[in-house]
Amino acid sequence: MSIMRFHIITIFPNMFDSYFNESIISRAIENKLIEVSTYALREYTIDKHRRVDGRPYGGGPGMVMWVDPILNCVDAIKKNKGLRMKNKVDTRKFKIVILSPGGKMFTNTLAKNTAKKYTDVIFICGRYEGIDSRVKKILKAEEWSIGDYVLTGGELPTMVCIDTISRQIKGVLNDENSLEETRTASHEIYARPEIYEYAGKKYRVPKVLLSGNHKLIDEYRAKKENKIGKK
Ligand code: SAM
Repeated sequence: MSIMRFHIITIFPNMFDSYFNESIISRAIENKLIEVSTYALREYTIDKHRRVDGRPYGGGPGMVMWVDPILNCVDAIKKNKGLRMKNKVDTRKFKIVILSPGGKMFTNTLAKNTAKKYTDVIFICGRYEGIDSRVKKILKAEEWSIGDYVLTGGELPTMVCIDTISRQIKGVLNDENSLEETRTASHEIYARPEIYEYAGKKYRVPKVLLSGNHKLIDEYRAKKENKIGKK
């Protein structure tokens, strides 16, 4: 099984350190199941002031991220790939993603298919007004949105996508049964204590979950099932 490599093009590479250095994702990196590399976009600009954006044609409030630095960076990532190859056969399969609130909705199914089909995913994080539209055309990139709202940048969406795709890679979750779509997973869950008292009111665990009757428990969970990834 080949390692999944995530490449992140961003003007804020430090934002990723904290998230990817903890918990399941950090263990997946240690276990060489995934690799996460960040690329500081300003290092790929030819502008002497290290700028990566300019005013939009047609006017408007925000700046637009230039084509050149992004293409230079993608080129560098793809060339680097060659250096890492042990044999001469290029088996890498690249997917290039531009994060955009107007893009295709990111879902668990998209995450699963991406984990299955590709060995390398390049994420291009937008800022300001976004990225010059020619980047998408030239790179044949796909635009992904993580939801019907607008964030200040593509960094959080990239973390969401990498986290979700990584869960789909064999070995990343200790127990394969943790993958919601392989079992009946309910969004209504409880742990100790059996009765929780708050503001004079008692909050109880549903009796069926204490019954030890697995047939009834399965039926209860099926009723409350979260259908994510099963459609
Ligand atoms: N006016 C731009 C538009 O409508 O596309 C919004 C730009 S937004 C302020 C800056 C960047 O944040 C975008 O280029 C994109 O990379 C990222 N972004 C914001 N919301 C997002 C979302 N829901 N999903 C994915 N990326 C998002």
